[in-house]
Amino acid sequence: MLHTTTSNVNTSERDLFIFFLQISVHRWSTSKVQCVTCAKDKGTVQCHGCSQSFCFKHLTDHRQQLSQQFDEIQMTRDLLRQTLTEYSNNSQKHPLINEIDRWEQHSINLIRKTAEEARQKMKKHTTEHLSKMEKNLNDLTKRLREGRGNDDFVEIDLQQWNQQLTQINEELMKPTNIKVKQSSTPLITMINVEIFDKNMTNISAKTKWMQNDVTAN
Ligand SMILES: [Zn+2]
Ligand SMILES: [Zn+2]
Repeated sequence: MLHTTTSNVNTSERDLFIFFLQISVHRWSTSKVQCVTCAKDKGTVQCHGCSQSFCFKHLTDHRQQLSQQFDEIQMTRDLLRQTLTEYSNNSQKHPLINEIDRWEQHSINLIRKTAEEARQKMKKHTTEHLSKMEKNLNDLTKRLREGRGNDDFVEIDLQQWNQQLTQINEELMKPTNIKVKQSSTPLITMINVEIFDKNMTNISAKTKWMQNDVTAN
């Protein structure tokens, strides 16, 4: 069964090779096929995982590569474990929660920006409006002063001045050329969390995986 050439390796390597073949007999098979790395065709064994053949030296290298890949998987698992613990301790850190946070912040910023723009526009026009009201009131004040000075006013004058005062007051409080109007177009988009029911197979598979994870923890 151990039809391999071992004359070019030292005793300890040969022993190790034989030992390796003995314990791996159910997983590795000997053949005359060339080593995929060095093309040597003596004493090659085939890896049942990838079906490639290797000499002893390169089989060791191949195992080393698989071992490195295993270590990488282990590291990825450790990182995942760390992330999961982090989210379990503080669900606020979860990316989906962050997505809601970002929507909230974006919406607040949008509302503040829109309100500020509206305020600036309003300030500009109210300043113009107030100076117009100031002029109207000054004109009326002048006429009142003249009326008092001349002492020649009658009922119709009093009625007119009263009307003008009321007009200025109304125009001051509710300018006819400026309005605050709310649009029917929504400024922010609605946010909603949708939960999809998974079928039973998925749930049991997930539970199994989680149990395994707990065991491995
Ligand atoms: Zn080789
Ligand atoms: Zn392989």
